[in-house]
Amino acid sequence: MSNAAETCVFCRIVAGAIPATIVGENADAIAFRDLAPQAPVHLLVVPRAHTPSLATATDAAALAGVLSLVREVAAAHGVAEAGYRVVTNVGADGGQTVPHLHFHVLGGRALHWPPG
Ligand code: AMP
Repeated sequence: MSNAAETCVFCRIVAGAIPATIVGENADAIAFRDLAPQAPVHLLVVPRAHTPSLATATDAAALAGVLSLVREVAAAHGVAEAGYRVVTNVGADGGQTVPHLHFHVLGGRALHWPPG
């Protein structure tokens, strides 16, 4: 097991080593509920393979699988028609706190723009 897989919280969720409410998965990604939801629907979609952020992601096919799951879980949670937001924070100024690429899927209420 790589060092990232042992220490990264999202790798540990992918491995089933720590609990999460899984709401969808495919060959490239898994989706689970955010622990601290910022909207009625707040899901995280993460690639199974560790990469720190969008800045380091090089596998375009895997990224397509991740985004496919984003769309699928948004539809499954009933926000596709009203609309939703997909966010990936990159690095310190982006507000990233977990260094494993993830896409927030937020919906279920009108979201403000611009973000803070
Ligand atoms: P970011 O600040 O963009 O890196 O987002 C990290 C997100 O991961 C935050 O919204 C956290 O609430 C969420 N989070 C951290 N640990 C867990 C966990 N064990 N299960 C579910 N969500 C988590």
